Amino acid sequence: MRIGIFGGTFDPPHLGHLILASEALEQLQLDKLLWMVTAIPPHKAINEVHNLEQRLSLTKMAIRDVPQFELSTLEIDRPGPHYSVDTVDIVKEMYPDAEIFFLMGQDSLRDLPLWYKSELFLELCDGLGVMRRPGIETIVTSLFEQYQDIEKKIHWFKTPLVDISSSDIRERIQEGRTYRFFLPDAEFDLIEEKKYYQ
Ligand code: ATP
Repeated sequence: MRIGIFGGTFDPPHLGHLILASEALEQLQLDKLLWMVTAIPPHKAINEVHNLEQRLSLTKMAIRDVPQFELSTLEIDRPGPHYSVDTVDIVKEMYPDAEIFFLMGQDSLRDLPLWYKSELFLELCDGLGVMRRPGIETIVTSLFEQYQDIEKKIHWFKTPLVDISSSDIRERIQEGRTYRFFLPDAEFDLIEEKKYYQ
């Protein structure tokens, strides 16, 4: 069994996330992809992140058409602080025979040295699935120097660059600009109906 863990604030989830996740399914031949909605990520301020229930219902809506996608509340169900290294450890205990792949965008890979116990985190992951992100310089050389074997673990996804971010969507909604095609229809309808982010 091959399992992907995709951690994010998903505030809201968008097509960049979905492209990354579907590429991961295909390229890493995953049997299951856990969308790990984070409570308050260690690197984001509390007032930057919206209501958990809102993010959960939007994520559920965004992933509902793909049977291998699963919403995971593993992080929010345990007391913080929530570190990815602990999440991977718990998933490994739940699926002892599975190979575990952690998925992220290039900006998250760049920030890896700031992660709690990043060496152990890398050791626990069988692979990292990474999607390039516009505006992020590739800083892999310094990562290769810092972490032995990281080069062998990184799988770069072959996708076009997608310049969509949750913060841009939130800003667009607040300014009354269009964001209609930046996320799935069902999610758009839910945001409009509930007047989220206004
Ligand atoms: P925000 O704009 O609020 O910071 P975000 O769009 O970066 O949010 P997150 O939920 O923080 O979304 O991202 C979860 C993961 O998905 C991170 O690893 C991030 O790098 C990755 N990701 C998000 N959007 C993209 C994108 N357009 N291309 C590649 N990776 C992405």
